[in-house]
Amino acid sequence: MRAVKTRGDGSFTVVPQISQGQISAAQLASIQRVIEEYGLPGIRITAGQRVMIDGVSADILREVVEKVGPVGDIFKHKVQACLGMTGCKLAMQDSMGVAARLEEFLKEYSLPTKLKSSVSGCSMCCAESMIRDVGLVGRKTGWVVSFGGNGGKRVRQGDILAQDVTEVEAFAIIGKSLDFYMKNAKVKERTARFVERVGVDAIREAVLGE
Ligand code: SF4
Repeated sequence: MRAVKTRGDGSFTVVPQISQGQISAAQLASIQRVIEEYGLPGIRITAGQRVMIDGVSADILREVVEKVGPVGDIFKHKVQACLGMTGCKLAMQDSMGVAARLEEFLKEYSLPTKLKSSVSGCSMCCAESMIRDVGLVGRKTGWVVSFGGNGGKRVRQGDILAQDVTEVEAFAIIGKSLDFYMKNAKVKERTARFVERVGVDAIREAVLGE
């Protein structure tokens, strides 16, 4: 179960359900109540815009999960986003709105392995879109679409497939890239390694007909 992980000391971590780092007052209050009631060490905020409640022992796990509200990921392929127009004066595009719609869009895809995506509202790229499998970067004139990035052990900057496109056009390009990836990737092959193996020209040809 994604929401509960076994830790080295035998305790568990509970992950409340959060999308793009947004948490409601009611959800926050129930987390606080649970922490106080069970004397838990507190919460941890992760780089992936999640909140984790650590140190939950097996005997209280069920109760904590029930009381804390929905847990685990809402969507199979989670999308990160910067604040964008909800709180950043540099934003050129609505990164959080597009990230939420991208999560919806991606939920139909059964991919060979995990997919990390992120949406940045301007070219400062605070959501690190260029090192994600799928990245979107907002500009005044539209979206930049990148594919095949990775921020792990072997860092790879994604290849730009399109610039200055609308949201609808960007999603169509992402959809075609993922169709090609699904058909041709090896089991568990992340997009970065896939692009390196087949070459970006093959992807551009499949997606853009170039
Ligand atoms: S990427 Fe741009 S819009 Fe998003 S938080 Fe950073 S500066 Fe603001």
